[in-house]
Amino acid sequence: VWNQVLELLESQLSRPTYEGWIKTVVAEELTTERLTIRTPHPFAKNWLHKYYFQNINSAVAEILGYPVEIHIVSSPNPNSSNEALVEDESDRTTLQVDEADDPKPSDLKNSDTKTSSAKAPVLLPLPEISNAPKNSTLNAKYVFTRFVVGATNRMAHAAALAVAESPGREFNPLFLCGGVGLGKTHLMQAIAHYRLEIDPAARIFYVSTEQFTNDLITAIRKDSMQSFREHYRDIDMILVDDIQFIEGKEYTQEEFFHTFNTLYESGKQIILASDRPPNQIPKLQERLCSRFSMGLIADIQVPDLETRMAILQKKAEYENLRIPSDVIHYIAASYTSNIRELEGALVRAVAYISISGLPMTIENVAPVLNPPKEPVEVSAEMVLDVVAELMNIDLADLQSNSRRREISQARQVAMYLMRQHTNLSLPKIGEALGGKDHTTVMYSCDKVTQLQAKDADTAQLIRQLSDRIYFVAQSQP
Ligand code: ADP
Ligand code: MG
Repeated sequence: VWNQVLELLESQLSRPTYEGWIKTVVAEELTTERLTIRTPHPFAKNWLHKYYFQNINSAVAEILGYPVEIHIVSSPNPNSSNEALVEDESDRTTLQVDEADDPKPSDLKNSDTKTSSAKAPVLLPLPEISNAPKNSTLNAKYVFTRFVVGATNRMAHAAALAVAESPGREFNPLFLCGGVGLGKTHLMQAIAHYRLEIDPAARIFYVSTEQFTNDLITAIRKDSMQSFREHYRDIDMILVDDIQFIEGKEYTQEEFFHTFNTLYESGKQIILASDRPPNQIPKLQERLCSRFSMGLIADIQVPDLETRMAILQKKAEYENLRIPSDVIHYIAASYTSNIRELEGALVRAVAYISISGLPMTIENVAPVLNPPKEPVEVSAEMVLDVVAELMNIDLADLQSNSRRREISQARQVAMYLMRQHTNLSLPKIGEALGGKDHTTVMYSCDKVTQLQAKDADTAQLIRQLSDRIYFVAQSQP
């Protein structure tokens, strides 16, 4: 294909131009949406972009029969630099400078200090340039069928379905907010997928706030605001992820304000996601804040245990993994506040089991799920305080001989935690709990170990207590 493009360009451009700039360009990669071409020199990239981009663009479209995004990249490749020699004297000079600076193998051997900069070309390439703002591709897994609905995301889910089915009606904009890893991006992309299913011709643009900013900067630099605006405004639905990052970016806010208005006024659906509600985004222009709040703000909270288990089950199903339900329960109980981490834990457990060849049991996965933390100095007092506080037991009772169930359980847990987190000997631990025998301590530790392996609630309790102990230990001067 590229050879045909070259032939076409040869027929269209003057000989020096073709020989000098185009002939040495090679096609690097062609996908359905994008063609990456490589020129041997950084300066040639900018030159090509500035003067011959249009020619290349239309030649490619003509040969392929459809337009693609064109990326020009450059590599100072010493082997092919000779081919790039051009007739123009001034360019030749540049090339020679470039070559002269290319390190020879002997240079590399003689001087270590040169190594780090050895590969740097004389003319630093500008960031990759493309002819159009990028539509970050959608993740095929982020669809409604793979989204588990629970009490804490039900409203967001319902609103997402509604805007996918009838965009630009009641909920415009739809503002999804919730903490990290709780499913905002998944839900957003599910809207895009579903809308495209309903209306394959819909022009839908999913973009991160960062990408919007980058596209804007590129447009300003390339003096192509016109096409930037067309790209962002001539669409049916826009989804902007992590809009909280617009904070403090005055120029991006200015431009996004106009993008928003144009789309909104023509009844196009706008979907935004953020880790917090609009009024808590610092340095957000008042007019943007009020526009963001104009439609529906749907929040997603941390899912409950049942939902977390359902999420793991669904993931296991889709990935064809067979996980015993007590292991699912154990993982779901251990990871409470971030679904990405919850999924990560499952993946780690599965990987560990398949490498080790051990059966998938709580005992076997526990070590990879709760990696050891940074060493901190934990004292018996810290453990006692935390256990007393979180298990709601009097410190004096912990150290007494009371056999009341909740007290003796808490005492056993305290012994176990001391054994885990301190260097105290068994007799010392016994002492800290009001003078218990070291065999009692040993028995207690074993018992808690077993219970933790069997019962997810205990496992979660131990985890919470440990976290708290570490927190307390870390905050000590
Ligand atoms: P956010 O954008 O809020 O930080 P993501 O949408 O990236 O979070 O979600 C993190 C991970 O958790 C993703 O892999 C996503 O598929 C998964 N996830 C989040 N919520 C759910 C859910 N309700 N059902 C299934 N998977 C979910
Ligand atoms: Mg996200």
